[in-house]
Amino acid sequence: MIEKYWLELAAEVLTDTALTTRFSNGHAACAALPDIRRATGFAAWKHTGQYRKGEGNIPYIHHPVEVAAILSEAGAIEDNDLLQAALLHDTIEDTDTKREEIESHFGARICSIVVEVTDDKSRPKQERKAAQIAHGPHLSKEAQSLKLADKISNVFDVAFSTPMDWPPERQLAYFDWASEVVAGLRGCNTALEALFDKQVARSRKAVAR
Ligand code: ZN
Repeated sequence: MIEKYWLELAAEVLTDTALTTRFSNGHAACAALPDIRRATGFAAWKHTGQYRKGEGNIPYIHHPVEVAAILSEAGAIEDNDLLQAALLHDTIEDTDTKREEIESHFGARICSIVVEVTDDKSRPKQERKAAQIAHGPHLSKEAQSLKLADKISNVFDVAFSTPMDWPPERQLAYFDWASEVVAGLRGCNTALEALFDKQVARSRKAVAR
């Protein structure tokens, strides 16, 4: 039974001591919830063999778990659907997962949040980056909070777990772009907005040094 396998994977991911959620005191308190474990396992299965861009071969699943933890702990979000969407947020964009699959396993609401934060990979990169800035203000509040938590995680990684071929100019350009995206998301969650501001300032300082 595939769901049993997801839960086994989730148990592995959530007890991985290398996974320190850097914006909280450990794993999100919500990690014990059965729905959260199921989504963690599904995402871990789909992202199998993928790693974050920085050094250290960090399994990709650490990123969606961190995004969910940021929402739950820093953002004080208790919407279980949104937390599951956070765990699943890169599956359609970066794995072979189809939206129908998310909808049949997790339901229409979670699926629609994931779809809202999914870039259209058939478009050229620059167009996708511009679209994120343009679409941000029109997203649902849930998708806006998710996007904000995603940018907090990425802005941290670009400075402190730097993709190996990124010179400082590219890192700084990433912070400028992320800040523009976030400008269009403001009003969804003040605590997350403040955390982004703090993190982007820290990241800029680390790169400028
Ligand atoms: Zn992401």
